Amino acid sequence: MIEEHQIKYRGVKGIPIIKAEEAKTLKTGVWRTFKPVRDKKKCIKCRLCWQLCPENAVKLDKDGYPIFNYDICKGCGICAKNCPVKAIVMERDLHGG
Ligand code: SF4
Ligand code: SF4
Repeated sequence: MIEEHQIKYRGVKGIPIIKAEEAKTLKTGVWRTFKPVRDKKKCIKCRLCWQLCPENAVKLDKDGYPIFNYDICKGCGICAKNCPVKAIVMERDLHGG
């Protein structure tokens, strides 16, 4: 299995690298006006959202399904746009954080 540190952000220009420990304190979730919501029934556990999130806000639960850390998710929508089965939708979220 490929480890997270081997694939995150590799070759992706323009996306800032935020280490998990730093991201925890930045609370970028307050920037958010939309939040990602995942439909477990549609998710095929491909991990693409987990790989592409620039904030390291996507974790995997014990069954391999993605879960979002809304403290640091800034609502960019990259996860939803790239989900191959449209299992993530962006919902209005004016409160952030
Ligand atoms: S909306 Fe952006 S920051 Fe939030 S989980 Fe998806 S890719 Fe990460
Ligand atoms: S990109 Fe979509 S299908 Fe793949 S793990 Fe994320 S939610 Fe599931």
